Amino acid sequence: MITIKAEQDLEKMRQACELTKQTLKLIEKNIKVGVSTAELDTIASNYIKSMGAKASFKNYNGFPASICTSLNSVVVHGIPSHDAILEEGDIISVDVGVYYKGFHGDSARTFLVGKVNPEIKRLVNVTKESFFEGIKGLKAGSFVGDISHRIQTYAEKNGYSCVRELVGHGIGKKLHEEPQVPNFGRSGSGPRLAAGMTIAIEPMINMGERNVIFLDDDWTCCTRDGLPSAHYENTVLITEDGVEILT
Ligand code: MG
Ligand code: MG
Repeated sequence: MITIKAEQDLEKMRQACELTKQTLKLIEKNIKVGVSTAELDTIASNYIKSMGAKASFKNYNGFPASICTSLNSVVVHGIPSHDAILEEGDIISVDVGVYYKGFHGDSARTFLVGKVNPEIKRLVNVTKESFFEGIKGLKAGSFVGDISHRIQTYAEKNGYSCVRELVGHGIGKKLHEEPQVPNFGRSGSGPRLAAGMTIAIEPMINMGERNVIFLDDDWTCCTRDGLPSAHYENTVLITEDGVEILT
């Protein structure tokens, strides 16, 4: 069932989403050569706690950290580590979820570390653009497939591919609610969106082929061909005449 949020729910969700956004801003300030992904995790964890909130991902199905840190060819769900040190030219996707007053916010960005190869920078830019392409014209009455189709078309037109094993999702009292929001598909297909629905739209775009593999830790999702991947995610609210980005 896809939940419709009442105004009082949305008030709390906006606060959870604002904290998600602020956590990512804080992480961005700390992205530099020599910093470990474990340090980024601690920074996020401390901030979220200090705001009286909880990290949505901590212990979620056993996930061991507060944020996901995915370097270069890691698509998503990278586990922060003291051994993963940011190097010049890296890209790092950071995914943050915050649980506050009974609701979740979920958002991700891919950050550049120092000077990044222009080709890789382009992948990061196109991934962000594909999110905005995905929400173009979106409003109550649109289909989930309209988002999927727009993201896929934009990414592929730019020579990239969309990951299919992992998808966007409804969000609210639970981190992952219905509907699934794939980054590929046909317009006019899938569930119809209504005002008051909140969904996380999250293109995961690969520079090379779309196939992914999972490492033995059962979390880390990497591109099969070892080429870079980027991620961009926001939690959005569907309204009668458009969308409101909450993160
Ligand atoms: Mg996320
Ligand atoms: Mg998500």
